[in-house]
Amino acid sequence: MAAQTQPDLQTVRLSNGKPITVHTQLFINNEFVPGHGPLIETINPATEEVICSVHSADAQDVDAAVAAANKCYNETWRKVAPAERGRLINKLADLMERDKDELATLDALDNGKAFTVARDVDITDSIACFRYFAGWADKIHGKTIDTTHDKWCYTRHEPLGVVGAVIPWNYPTMMAAWKFAPALATGNCVVMKTSEVTPLPLYKFAALCKEAGFPAGVVNVITGYGHTTGAFLSAHKGVSKMAFTGSTMTGRKIMEASSGSNLKKLQLELGGKSAQIVCADADLEQAAEWSAGGIFNNHGQSCNAGSRILVHESIHDKFVDQFIQATKNMVKIGDPFDEDTFQGPQINKAQFEKILGYIEIGQKEGAVIAHGGKRWGNKGYYIEPTVFINVNNNMRISREEIFGPVVVIIKFKTIDEAIDIANDSDYGLAGGVYTQNLDTALKVTSEIKTGTMWVNCFDVFDQSTPFGGYKQSGFGKELGKYALQEYTQVKVVKILMSSKI
Ligand code: NAP
Ligand code: MG
Repeated sequence: MAAQTQPDLQTVRLSNGKPITVHTQLFINNEFVPGHGPLIETINPATEEVICSVHSADAQDVDAAVAAANKCYNETWRKVAPAERGRLINKLADLMERDKDELATLDALDNGKAFTVARDVDITDSIACFRYFAGWADKIHGKTIDTTHDKWCYTRHEPLGVVGAVIPWNYPTMMAAWKFAPALATGNCVVMKTSEVTPLPLYKFAALCKEAGFPAGVVNVITGYGHTTGAFLSAHKGVSKMAFTGSTMTGRKIMEASSGSNLKKLQLELGGKSAQIVCADADLEQAAEWSAGGIFNNHGQSCNAGSRILVHESIHDKFVDQFIQATKNMVKIGDPFDEDTFQGPQINKAQFEKILGYIEIGQKEGAVIAHGGKRWGNKGYYIEPTVFINVNNNMRISREEIFGPVVVIIKFKTIDEAIDIANDSDYGLAGGVYTQNLDTALKVTSEIKTGTMWVNCFDVFDQSTPFGGYKQSGFGKELGKYALQEYTQVKVVKILMSSKI
């Protein structure tokens, strides 16, 4: 296929009519270049209208990006001093701070999330993530190990080379930050495929990387469909590792691609069906507020969403009332660019229909809608926050990841039963418990098989604390010091002292 001719810069309009200029070409070797794949339309989910078309990468573009990254890694980047890597990452964070509103605007436009949430959570936390890992860049050391008196032995924590990354659409900038920040701090070059549903924020990010002064080839951002661009990248022999966030089904395909190519290292952050356990002694107001945020933040489109709430039977009815009230207080649905909007539209038509389909399935299974259950408005992919009661853990709405603003509330009699229900899931990403009793909190947090547990809160993140799944929620840790080992490999060097001395 010949390269597409669409110019890189396009002027597009926000739903409030304001114009904004966006990059639409692939970012390879510090240049915006046309792609050889088809042009892909990106849609504004608040209006269902096309924002613009972006270029996509075919196999030859993926080859070009991987080659640029390998050349840079071998000739330049691996020789750059760690402190200089840290300085560049901090400079990038400064530029993101300067252009925070524009980055948040692109996240809101392309994804449909509220602008204020994009600015105060997604972009703010992404900047914090870059600053955190910038600090690590010159603090990554091996060890010296004593073996015998005439031998010196030490380890080096070396970069992997070229990291391939594939991210989903739910937190476009933040998912990129979680991978770029540790990968660059540890000295790798990166080729990232954005979700083709939300490419625009990542091209702005790429332009900032160039402005920050990263050598050409360190940062490469491409767009394209998963089954083509994503598959080419994950099967590429020039890629040393795939860092992936997305569904469990795609995670399996990436594992197969690694197995069938060069056995590249993998880090898989996959789906979830997390349980929030509300005990009889919980502070009900606190539990209702945090658990509502735990499911309805980001329109329910979070891998760690607390989509199953398990409530002790003695407080069930009271909790349901308080939960619905907390939901009404918290979830203001509207245009992503209205200051007080909390919930925007779902990401696209396919997800919108899938979620409404699950709401129908739930009713057919015998569950009862206690709140919401319908489309909101008649334009844009908006869905009311929806609460199901009369649910058991065998229903499809309890077992399958809906990835929308839909929560099921399940009764339990004893704490052991609650733990069994929470663990009766293929997933193991996160969970929560609401209780005033320290023993109960300790028992539940130690017995639930998930990578994160929250007590009397939910969905609390920090760049310094690790995040990742158990079971079919994947493996490997993002964020925190733990992320450093995902992007490095350990070499041991053994030196024999000369016997002549
Ligand atoms: P997805 O369908 O798995 O897609 C994720 C990314 O993988 C997209 O860029 C997709 O491209 C690409 N992809 C699809 N098939 C591929 C293949 N064969 N090879 C390589 N790449 C491929 O997931 P999604 O619907 O975008 O995101 C939602 C899912 O992500 C949920 O299951 C959610 O739980 C999970 N998630 C997990 C975390 C976590 O940290 N654990 C965080 C956020 C989201 P296309 O867009 O073209 O399909
Ligand atoms: Mg879009």
